[in-house]
Order: sequence, then C-alpha cells, then structure tokens
Amino acid sequence: MSDHYVKVKVQLEQMKSSGEGVEKEEADIIKDEVLVASPPASVSPILASDTPAAQRETPKTSVTCRNQSKSRSKLGKDEKNTCTKQDSVPALQGTIVASNANSGKPVNRKNNEQQMLQIKGTGKILQGKTETNGNTVPIHPPEDIKVGPHNKEDANKVAKRRKPVTVDTFKAKTSLEALKLSIRQLKWKEFPVGRRSACDIYWHGVSFHDNDNIISGQVNKFPGMIEMLRKINLTRAVRTMQELFPEEYNFYPRSWILPEEYQLFSTQISLAKDSDVSQKPTFIIKPDGGSQGDGIYLIRDPGDLRVIAGSHNKQSVVQEYIHKPLLIDKLKFDIRLYVLVKSLEPLEIYIAKEGLSRFCTEPYQEPSQKNLSHVFMHLTNYSLNVQSGNFVHSDSLSSGSKRTFSSVLYRLASKGVDIKKVWSDIISLVIKTVIALVPELKVYYQADIPPGKPGPTCFQILGFDILLMKNLKPVLLEVNANPSMRIEHEQEVSPGVFEYVPSPVDEEVKVGVIRDTLRLMDPAQRKSGTGEEGRVLPSMCLKQVFPKYTKQFSYLRIVERITALFLRFLGVKGNMRLGPTGFRTFIRNCKLSNSHFSMATVDILYIDITRRWASMLPDSREAGMGLQAFVEAFFYLAQRRFKSLPLREQVVSLLEVCEAQLENQGRGDPGGALSAPQLCSPATPRRASSQDYRLHQRLRPTHKGNVEN
Ligand code: ADP
Repeated sequence: MSDHYVKVKVQLEQMKSSGEGVEKEEADIIKDEVLVASPPASVSPILASDTPAAQRETPKTSVTCRNQSKSRSKLGKDEKNTCTKQDSVPALQGTIVASNANSGKPVNRKNNEQQMLQIKGTGKILQGKTETNGNTVPIHPPEDIKVGPHNKEDANKVAKRRKPVTVDTFKAKTSLEALKLSIRQLKWKEFPVGRRSACDIYWHGVSFHDNDNIISGQVNKFPGMIEMLRKINLTRAVRTMQELFPEEYNFYPRSWILPEEYQLFSTQISLAKDSDVSQKPTFIIKPDGGSQGDGIYLIRDPGDLRVIAGSHNKQSVVQEYIHKPLLIDKLKFDIRLYVLVKSLEPLEIYIAKEGLSRFCTEPYQEPSQKNLSHVFMHLTNYSLNVQSGNFVHSDSLSSGSKRTFSSVLYRLASKGVDIKKVWSDIISLVIKTVIALVPELKVYYQADIPPGKPGPTCFQILGFDILLMKNLKPVLLEVNANPSMRIEHEQEVSPGVFEYVPSPVDEEVKVGVIRDTLRLMDPAQRKSGTGEEGRVLPSMCLKQVFPKYTKQFSYLRIVERITALFLRFLGVKGNMRLGPTGFRTFIRNCKLSNSHFSMATVDILYIDITRRWASMLPDSREAGMGLQAFVEAFFYLAQRRFKSLPLREQVVSLLEVCEAQLENQGRGDPGGALSAPQLCSPATPRRASSQDYRLHQRLRPTHKGNVEN
C-alpha cells in the first residue's frame, strides 16, 4: 500500500467517524456527510461472512435459454433477464468449508485464526477470531454494535424463544441469489415456494402485484412505483417541483416530453441557438418505457427527430445531454446508488454507503456529428458495454468496467476532490427526488390498499442512476424501480451455452443492501448487530437520511399537502381520479368560488384541464382528474387568487386558505358530512386537513396488527 494511499485512507476514516450521527441545521446542504464504505477490498480485509463470491468457489451454473437482448422479456426497468437456471444454487453453497468431525458443522478453513477485521461502513478495526460456524466474533466488540444478550448462551436462548422472521421468496426472480445469502446471514426462514399461512415479508421481483391477495406483512414494492418511475412520469414529477423550486431541482437535465412538446422543444432550441450562435447543444432521446439503453440515441438538431422512423409517434423524453461528464481513465462512468424507501408515511429514506460505478468502454470525446452513434462512448449501461470487446470483468472492486463507488471516491479523494461535498450533494439529490415522487405514490397506495381494508405495508429498494459532471455536480439520469440485484454475470463458454459466474463487485454491494434492508424491516424491530444465534453481522451499510434531515427539506413538501386535499375529496373507494362532483365539493368546502369565480367557471376549469391531461395520458383507463391535473388546477387557482406573489408563495397561501377552511368545518361539524372520512381529531390544522395523517394512523401497529414499515 503506497504512503499516499494510506494518507488518503486515514483522512477518509477520520471524516467518516466525525460525520456519523451529527445533524447539522444548515439549509439544504448536508455538510458533514460522508457515506464511505470500506476501502476497496484489495486493501481491506473484510468479514468472513461477507467473502466475495469469487473467493467462495461458487459452482458455475449452466443456463439454457438466452440471448443477450432478444430473448429477454420485460420485467421492469433493470430486471429483464428471465432465464431460469437449471440448478438453483443454494446460497453459500460455494463457501470455503471443511467438515468438523466433532460437531458435524461446516467450519471455515481459517478456523480460530486471529484476524484483523475492518467493520464495514464504520472504519473500525477489530481483532477477532473465526468461529466454527464460519462467522467471525469480535474479541472486543465496538460500542456501536449491540451484541444483544450478555453471552452466547443467553443469545442462543433468546434465539430459540424468537420465531424466525419468515420471507416468501417465491417471486423474487433475479434477486433470489442475493436474497438467499442475506436470509442465511440473518438466520431467518425462507419459503422458496410460498407458504399457506402468512409470511412476515414478501419479496417480489417486479411489482407490488406479483402476488395478489396479501393481507398482512410487508411487501418489497410500492404500488405504482414502476409507473411513477417511467421516464415521462419522473420528468413530470420533477418538473412540478422545478416550477416551485427551480434552484433546488436543477440536478435534473432540462427535458421535454415527446410528442406533445415537440413544438416547444424545437422553438426553445432555435431561440437559444439564435441568441448564441456558438451554442451547439446535444440532446439524448429516451423512449418512455425503455431501459438498459434500448432505443436511446443522440441528436444535435430538433429536426433530426423526424427522420428517425416512427420515433415521433412514440412517447419519449428528450433531454439536454450532459456533454462534460467527469472522466476516470478517460472514460465516462455513472453511479448506481441503492436507496431504500422504508415507508411513505412517515417518510423514511436510507441510502446505501456503497454503490456501483459503471464505465463506458470507449474513451470519451465531447459529442460531435461524427461520434453521436458511438454508444460505448456515450452510454454507460452495463448491458450495452458488456457486449464491447473492451469490457473488463475484474475480480477487484477497484478496477475493470464495473467498480464499487467507494473505489472511485478513493481515487477522487487521492486527487484532492472534496468527496464530503460530493456525498452531501448526492444525498440532497436523492431526498429531493423522493420528495417529488411521494405525492403520486400516496395516491397509488390508497387506491391499492384502501384505508380500513386489510393489506400489507410496503418498502422498496430503488436504483438511482447518477452522473457526475466535470465540476463534480451530480445529475440525476433516472431512477429504477427494479434495479438489478443479480450477483452473477453470464459468460458464454461455447456458442449458445452460457454460465453464471460470481461477480464479486455485485455481491459486495447488493448482498449488503438486501441484508440490511431486511434488518431494517425486521417486524420485531430488533436492530441488533447480531444474527439469530448471536453472531456478529457487518455494521449497517444503509444510512438513514430522512427523517434525519427533515429540517433541511420539509419546506419542499408542498405538493404532498396538495395531495392531501386531493385524497380527501377522492374518498377511499380505490379510485385515483377525482370526478366533477368531487372537484366542486373541494371548491365549495374550501370556499374558493365567489362572484368573480362562479361554479360554472369551476366546471369549465375542470373539463378543460381534465381533457388536456386525458390527451397526454392516452393509455389511462379511468376517467376524471388525476393528481397531476389537480395540481395544475391548484396552481391556476393560486395564481388567480394571489396575483402579485411568486408561484411558490401563491401555492402556499392557497394551501393555508384551504387547510384553514377545512379545519373550521371539521370543528363545526365533527364527523358530519363536511369532515373527511376517518379524520381522527380536528385538534391541529395540519392533521385535520391531512390525508397524510390518516395514512399514518392507518399504518400504526394498533390499526394493522402489523408493525409499521
Ligand atoms: P436506460 O433506462 O435506458 O438505461 P438512462 O436514462 O439511464 O436510460 O440512459 C442511459 C445512459 O445514457 C445513461 O446510463 C447515461 O450513460 C446516458 N445518459 C442518459 N441521460 C443522459 C444525459 N442527460 N446526459 C448524458 N448522458 C446521459
């Protein structure tokens, strides 16, 4: 290890320990954050239980079906590969074990060896010895890892008394291997073909609806997440926030929705070019339902859209192309970060300290007419670049075409980059993006799991794709509802025959994310640092960022308040669209009509906005006013009423009017026709007018017989 590397490592460890648990109050900027995971494995001994797959001699598994792209059926964004293995490899099968003659239990070859251990995510070095079970017990446990019961005997007693957490993995699809490993590490109980009685956790590979009729427990998908994260919907959600908070949401490239905004796009670009002839912007076109780079292309002139056959008929997003990305080894790369939305109400967000960096395989050049079609230069998708002859599969976490994000950060830190700032900007981007998504997700949630009906609670791991610009500013490319959790990659051993071989980088990152998600979702909320039998688990790789940073970001949650009004007048019948009567009731109850704004005008407003949105959402089956249309109507009403203020203040002022009116009515008519259904107490204005509060009440354990997620 070079002196320089040691220096950087020490600095990072110091920053890490100083950053933990400190909450700063500065608006928006999270100054003290460094979510650095362990240094690259090449320089850091890691826990035995976390040994990368390549070192565990996992047997190779043959697969019959497949063709890189053609035979894949759609599963959701990242999860496309449906090929099934002939042999399902039991998790940990490849662990280096030897039989222990006395106990019959497998033992690690390094049994009883003293080891120096780096506890992941903490930077703490422990001395430990390997136990007969292959796990490692610290001799001196650090203070922040709770070992639960006082000694191992106690721990075993407690473990026997506890029922193991049950996980239905039947629909886990391509996450199965990482999930199995995680369940084993936690000593929980897996139900690979489902279970007649209820499980605590249901792990779905694609959507909330993979298993229908779940009435309790927790599902790892939110209803509506796939829909919300389609490129157009994400763009719309972020754009609404950009209207209110242009500065705060400038991390998302300027985007237009095609075909409906073609004219706008074309005009804006022409105007920009006319005002500055040196401008030669490039745009990236992304089909709405696309993933893995499918159908993406670059253009330099809006006119080029038309010459691509059929493209103008399909819905897509055209986006400003970030032409100065940060390069490493002359290559463009992006970052895949895993984010857990643990609950919508109250909002809880965790970010994984470790992520993946995916590299292009052709040296980057700024876009020119000549190189626009060079996908290996401009697109960082693994699925594309793996097909290039230049793709490097590496067993090291810090080299090759797919690396850990921490290895990239170490590299940047060694060049003097302020990686604390990079992390804090990324956290900020993640929180703001989730805040943009939550309003519509609440509408889906209520439609699928109506208040008062039995249903599960939900959580979800999302895959954020982030690009660092040359000036280190993070840019959001997209969010995947179903990030790939595969921990193997495929290798063609002879024509048409493929094998899955372990991918140490993927395993390093993804198993930690799944295992720690499960730990956080433990229905008994044990939060201990131990597995079922008192074994030490690696420290959490997921770090809470919300509500931790509530103070810095809560002012952004304006659309959620509009959503609370929408849900209130929508009722609880499982629909997602507000009818004309509901809209009229909203106007009347909030006292928004007067002699200058009659109910007839209200009806015209309703019809106008609803029709326009119906033409923009051609595949929508339900008639009526959706949330986005309602938000537009609300903005319009706010602008009408508070003409002189900036939009954000107009909207907040109208919200206050509405909330106060509803609060008054709640007081005057408790439980009567004017109150929203299921309102519990008119005590506080925010509560009384807030569907959020009703959702929150519904998610409480007493109501669900189920621990809040
Ligand atoms: P997909 O879902 O098909 O992967 P993405 O939005 O992630 O679509 O785009 C694919 C790739 O294109 C990204 O991984 C990134 O390398 C590149 N890319 C996407 N948007 C931009 C942009 N605005 N500027 C520069 N590169 C981009």
